[in-house]
Amino acid sequence: MQNRVYMKDLKDNIGKEVIVAGWVDIRRDQGKMVFFDFRDMTGKVQCVVLPNHAEAIEKAKEIRPEWVLKVSGIVNKRPEKNVKADVLNGDVELEVTGIEVLNKADTAPFAINEDTANVNEDLRMQYKYLDLRTDRMQKNIRMRHKIVKLIRDYLDKENFTEVETPILTKSTPEGARDYVVPSRIWQGKFYALPQSPQQYKQLLMAGGIERYFQIAKCMRDEDTRGDRQPEFTQFDLEMSFVEREDVMALNEKLLINIVQTLYPEKKIQEIPFPRITYKEAMEKYGNDRPDFRNDKEDKNLLAFGWVVDFPFFERTDKSDNPQAEGEWTFTHNPFSRPKDEHMPNLMEKKDISNILTSQYDIILNGYEIGGGSIRNHEYEALQKVFEILGHKIEDIEKNFGHMLHAFKTGTPPHGGIAWGLDRLVMLLQNEPNIREVMAFPKSGEGKDLMMNSPSEISEKQLKELDIKLSK
Ligand code: ASP
Repeated sequence: MQNRVYMKDLKDNIGKEVIVAGWVDIRRDQGKMVFFDFRDMTGKVQCVVLPNHAEAIEKAKEIRPEWVLKVSGIVNKRPEKNVKADVLNGDVELEVTGIEVLNKADTAPFAINEDTANVNEDLRMQYKYLDLRTDRMQKNIRMRHKIVKLIRDYLDKENFTEVETPILTKSTPEGARDYVVPSRIWQGKFYALPQSPQQYKQLLMAGGIERYFQIAKCMRDEDTRGDRQPEFTQFDLEMSFVEREDVMALNEKLLINIVQTLYPEKKIQEIPFPRITYKEAMEKYGNDRPDFRNDKEDKNLLAFGWVVDFPFFERTDKSDNPQAEGEWTFTHNPFSRPKDEHMPNLMEKKDISNILTSQYDIILNGYEIGGGSIRNHEYEALQKVFEILGHKIEDIEKNFGHMLHAFKTGTPPHGGIAWGLDRLVMLLQNEPNIREVMAFPKSGEGKDLMMNSPSEISEKQLKELDIKLSK
């Protein structure tokens, strides 16, 4: 649309006739005059249609909330007594000279000019495109973009390369259940959707990329509970030739930069971020993501911290039978490297429960917002981890042969981290759950209520995949 002016720029056009486009927010018909609030992605303005614009007033009497219009009008200063301070366009209004209806709208199932926080969430999800029009959602989505853009710009300056890793991949041993995708060409075989780009990013280090990051979708088929989503976004990063302190320092600087640049109203409680060992955290707070805030009422207080020195291994769940000794499993990531002083015990498979990993978790206001580690880049050491985990030699070769082989071909020491991006945005935007900062979240039962997915597929599709359903 030529010569269109955004609502945010109306203040620079006082006295001029302009064209604006957007949605009708609310309309107040006062008989002789019609007022309506008019909205685009940058904000709102009050429009006034006066009786001397006969054609416009006729149209204005027809319009309803959420109709899409092109409006021409003169930007007038409001009389002093009507000025609303601290509101965008609080001191101007648009005297409408013409209205063109671009699209009509059915009555929306909930009000869009109000916060939808108290509207039934299933209804919001079913009509997500309407929910997205609300002021709070617009802000959340745009701030999310700004955070991601800042990360990209920051890391680009720090010589990082963003690399996309595959979505169709192979089961990874990262703890959760995989989503699988049947192969048509290789009937009976399946891809897995990535739970994280862990193996690929390490293989990028083997590939000499040295400094990688990605805004990566991750999929985990976990039982839906609490604030989980079947798919979520990680800000994922890996660096070569680094030690724990290097990765932690870079992440700390980046987080501080995000807050100071995009959230100047917020205060970081302590810089450098305080550190606590896993053992201290459990003893003092009873959990491994303590809330360090000294004032929990202050919505602008950010208490970041690091948790370090986690045990590498733990016994698998013994809850059913406390007598039974579980097998060993890893607490975080099988590819982590023990702390240097614990390397000898790993190599000798001695005192396994006391081996500590180089893992570091970043916490914020009682949430874990990320975690990572220095990796085991040596073939023998990684092999030992898999032996402790009880993998048979043939299985190690079958599942991790590519990693082990890469590590025999000159892979530099490396380490990295991943942040739960949704969770960070949620905390910065003062939202109660991650669904509020995702454009198209799924319901608690893992459904996309707008698309109506998951859904059946056709007989033909099943046949092509050679899949038979038992019911
Ligand atoms: N891949 C790990 C995760 O998803 C993060 C990391 O160690 O970099 O938790």
